Amino acid sequence: MKITPDHVLTIEKIMAQVPHNWKQQYYDNNGRKWADAEKKVIWERLDRLKSPTPETIAIIIGNDTWTSNRCDQCGKHVDAVIFLGEPLDYYSHTARLCIACVRDAIAAVESVVNNA
Ligand SMILES: [Zn+2]
Repeated sequence: MKITPDHVLTIEKIMAQVPHNWKQQYYDNNGRKWADAEKKVIWERLDRLKSPTPETIAIIIGNDTWTSNRCDQCGKHVDAVIFLGEPLDYYSHTARLCIACVRDAIAAVESVVNNA
């Protein structure tokens, strides 16, 4: 599969998906109910945010894991990563890499290929 900008995950995309992902995690569609009242209140606050930031989302939720965008190679939290490998699934071989690590990877491959 060709790598395209659709493979890039930014903090902005993550933040835009938080209310949806929160509801998917804590709302039972068939039972038509929330896991508990607090989860519903948190979702309402997330859904009302006009200009979300990772900090405001973390304050509402109580931790920063929902807006984390971490590179699998260097471990840094970055503004954007690219998904490489298999399409993301629970058991997929997928890596999220920051631009610095992608550059390092290209340089490493080229140094080997160019010296062969
Ligand atoms: Zn990295």
